[in-house]
Amino acid sequence: MSFDSIFNEQVDALKAEGRYRIFAELERKRGQFPLAARHHDGRISDVTVWCSNDYLGMGQHPAVIAAMHEAIDRCGAGAGGTRNISGTTHYHVVLERELADLHQKESALLFTSGYVSNWASLSTIASRLPGCVVLSDALNHASMIEGIRHSKARKVIFEHNDPEDLDRKLAALPTDAPKLVAFESVYSMDGDIAPIKEICDVADKHGAMTYLDEVHAVGLYGPRGGGIAEREGLMDRLTVIEGTLGKAYGVMGGYIAASAAVCDFIRSFSSGFIFTTALPPALAAGAIASIRHLKSSDFERRAKHAQVGKVRAKLDAIGIPYLKNPSHIVPVMVRDPVKCKAISDWLMSVHGIYVQPINYPTVPRGTERLRITPSPVHSDADIDRMIAALSEIWSQCALARAVA
Ligand SMILES: *Cc1c(COP(=O)(O)O)cnc(C)c1O
Repeated sequence: MSFDSIFNEQVDALKAEGRYRIFAELERKRGQFPLAARHHDGRISDVTVWCSNDYLGMGQHPAVIAAMHEAIDRCGAGAGGTRNISGTTHYHVVLERELADLHQKESALLFTSGYVSNWASLSTIASRLPGCVVLSDALNHASMIEGIRHSKARKVIFEHNDPEDLDRKLAALPTDAPKLVAFESVYSMDGDIAPIKEICDVADKHGAMTYLDEVHAVGLYGPRGGGIAEREGLMDRLTVIEGTLGKAYGVMGGYIAASAAVCDFIRSFSSGFIFTTALPPALAAGAIASIRHLKSSDFERRAKHAQVGKVRAKLDAIGIPYLKNPSHIVPVMVRDPVKCKAISDWLMSVHGIYVQPINYPTVPRGTERLRITPSPVHSDADIDRMIAALSEIWSQCALARAVA
């Protein structure tokens, strides 16, 4: 029996629907990013990247690069083990202190990615608290959903960003059951922002813990880059704040910040923390440099928000529809998976502009989009070229324009 034919059949179904994923093979050019070299059909061409989550260009910041070089020169390449078995370096300990300070918590705990931090933390808390019920926002990220599922705890989904629905759902649960409310601050695909204070008020009223994913906000919001909860003075209202070092901080890794008791508990019981090799010291060193820089520098944040504003204003001027939101994410709505991919292919091949099409299951069917993430490393000329190309393809595809 050929298993490959079964595998191929399922992949063919994706292709027929127009949502088969093709990766762009890039080499980012340090010092010139968002410029990258693209390898395609044995040729190399220049592209401008418009869909990176390296939101502030910190992946090429001189302080970050220097810290990583220095750590490699001092310690070599890998950590050499799990945190438990010889993998805890001085860099990991300093980074955890830096993160605890960022979120004004007693403690922090590092993981190899944001995905792993959500999966490991939620699954450990919810599985080891007897009778725990998890209240999960309807649009939570896959890593949170998988963590909750793995815990086998009871899950109740509340309507997206809706504290009143959360209140009703919490009220319907047994008063003595331990409860955990899991949600995000900036939602990555629509760029909308949770009413954190109202959600914490409702959670407090029912004696529930709160778990906030700030992956798309850390580094970007708040006077020291602590995220939306820092900006709104709410960090002390959250039981757990989770974040990534791979997006605005430009490196890699994930973490939680919480009380010493919570961090020690997850450190002690979570399989996703215990049984995997620690991050290389150089990654930890790069993350420390990036976090420290963004704690004291507001320059990158302000420059980013300025470029986001320019992109929006220019889209408005030519009537190209995008989701209005209070964040840095600009979702240009195509609302058709085949057109979305065709536009993305055309932008790449004709103009050297790279915007990945976002299709189902990342977003609901009928809401396919080009998710544009302007950054301080995009120049005004980059913006003008991208807008001109979008305007051209919008006309060619006879896509609807918004009336101003
Ligand atoms: C990207 C993402 C993660 C995972 O973070 P990584 O560091 O990339 O693994 C978690 N939550 C949300 C909302 C994300 O978008």
